[in-house]
Amino acid sequence: MAGLIYNLFLYLVPLLRYGQNCKLLGYDDPLTHIITGNVTTPAPVIAGTPVTSKGDVREHFGKLLHSSVDGKGLLYHPTCPKVHQWVRTAHHKWLTGRDFIRAVHLRHNLLPSGMMLSCLSSAHSKSCPVCVNVPYTVAHILQQCPRSHGARIKRHNAICKYVSETMAKLGFKVEWEPMLRTKEGLLKPDLLASIEECVFIIDIAICSDGVDPDKVYMNKIAKYEPVADTLVDTYSDIKLSAFVVNWRGSIAKRTLKDFEPLVTSKGFSTVSVRTLQYGNYIWDMWNRSTVVSFAEAEVYNR
Ligand SMILES: [Zn+2]
Repeated sequence: MAGLIYNLFLYLVPLLRYGQNCKLLGYDDPLTHIITGNVTTPAPVIAGTPVTSKGDVREHFGKLLHSSVDGKGLLYHPTCPKVHQWVRTAHHKWLTGRDFIRAVHLRHNLLPSGMMLSCLSSAHSKSCPVCVNVPYTVAHILQQCPRSHGARIKRHNAICKYVSETMAKLGFKVEWEPMLRTKEGLLKPDLLASIEECVFIIDIAICSDGVDPDKVYMNKIAKYEPVADTLVDTYSDIKLSAFVVNWRGSIAKRTLKDFEPLVTSKGFSTVSVRTLQYGNYIWDMWNRSTVVSFAEAEVYNR
């Protein structure tokens, strides 16, 4: 990451010189023409392409960041810059200074996982100590590892609680995990929020950073479509939606669109921050736990 910023300056300084030169050449002043000698400064070139604005440089380094191992999970963050404003301002009412630093570390995949430490020393294992032959990455610990299952449920419930309380404040009657009989069998969306003739069927998901959150949203909609069919007789206005965030705090574009009338950009920002805070909680719980896989337990018992 630091390497990317250093390279950014390498191109921004020549770009400033290029901009100043263009400005001087544009003046209709004979003295300025004598000083500059009407010689144009060439635009800096990145990867064979001349760049003429800060936007071009930002786009180039954005592509580099999103194709890197640690930066690929940030690909979906630019869809709503307002949600992630707290990173620039270093301020959010839910975050202490320590929490802010930890949230930024997690957001940029900078926690000391086995995969990261193995690059520094061969004494560190690349494999998860709980699962057999699974890479020891932050994504695995937060999203898949059985050792963090309980903490993962708490993160899901925290986001669910936030959405539920927001809807309740707006006058909705909210039911948690109602069991509904549909033509596809029993289905249990996370929330059912109703007000007069209108009902929201909402499922919450915290997905991996390697998948488009909008794709997860569409899968949730397809799964809970039969619930909407069963509620047709009770409600005239049925809205089927999913609240999808990835573990790095990026919110699905379709979720933002669905909840725009109900949740402010500060509210979305809070969801993003809470997801990161709970991500750190999962990481801490995983590191404090001594649970090992059955295969490993057998090795210890020999
Ligand atoms: Zn594992």
